[in-house]
Amino acid sequence: MALERLLTGFRDFRTGYYREHLDLFEKLATEGQSPKILIIGCADARVDPGILTQTQPGDIFTVRNVAAMVPPAQYPPDTRHHGTSSAIEFAVRGLNVEHVVVLGHALCGGIGALVDGRDSIYASYDYLSTWTAIAQEVRDLAVAKLKGRSREEITRAVEQAAVLNSVSNLMGFRWIEEKVKAGTLALHAWWFNMTEGQLYAFNPATVTFEAVQGVSVEPAIVKGRALSDIAPEHFISAVAAREPAF
Ligand SMILES: [Zn+2]
Repeated sequence: MALERLLTGFRDFRTGYYREHLDLFEKLATEGQSPKILIIGCADARVDPGILTQTQPGDIFTVRNVAAMVPPAQYPPDTRHHGTSSAIEFAVRGLNVEHVVVLGHALCGGIGALVDGRDSIYASYDYLSTWTAIAQEVRDLAVAKLKGRSREEITRAVEQAAVLNSVSNLMGFRWIEEKVKAGTLALHAWWFNMTEGQLYAFNPATVTFEAVQGVSVEPAIVKGRALSDIAPEHFISAVAAREPAF
C-alpha cells in the first residue's frame, strides 16, 4: 500500500464520514472526550479495536503496544518513560472510564517471539524481548506445563494467559484496585481470533476464554471477586488438564 492510499482515504473521510458526523465532531471538539471504555490492544495492523468494535470517535480510549501488554505498576514511580502506564492512568484517573478491556489476539507476533525465545528471529532486537518479558513467567510456565503439546497450542495458551497477566498487572495500580473494589471499574480479558472472526471473553467461572455469542459479557474481575480467580497460573493449569486442542 502506497502512502497515497492514506491521502485518498483521508479525502474520502473528509467528504464522507466527517461530513456525515459533523455534529459528533463538533460536540467532541467543544465538550472534549468522555469515553467510558479503555481498550489495551496489540499494535498488530490486523486488529484495530475501533474497527473490531465498530465504534465512533470518542467512544473508546485506546492504547496499543506489542502484544497488548500491561507492565507491572512501578511504586514509587520512577523517571523512566512509562508510555502504556501513563495512558492507563489518564484513562482511569483523568477520564474515569468504567471498563478496561485487555484485547489479545491469535497469531500475535509478539507472543510468538516470546514463545520462541532465543530461537526467535527477533531475539537480537534492542527492545522487543525486554518488553514481551512482561509475560516471561507466564510463558515459561506454559512451556513447562504443556510440554509435548504443539507449538500452536502452547502459543495460544500464552496469548490468552498473557491477557490475564496484563489484567493482574492492572490490579497492581492502586487507583485501579480501589475502583475495582468500589465497583466503579470493571476489568475484561478478551481475545480475538481473526481466522474465524470470533471474539472470546474470559469467564472466571469456567477458567476458559468463551466465544462471545451475544452482547452481554461479564467482567473478568468484578467487585469482591478474588484476584486468584484470574491468576494466569490457574488458567495454564486448566489448559494443561484438558485434552490437547490441536
Ligand atoms: Zn499481537
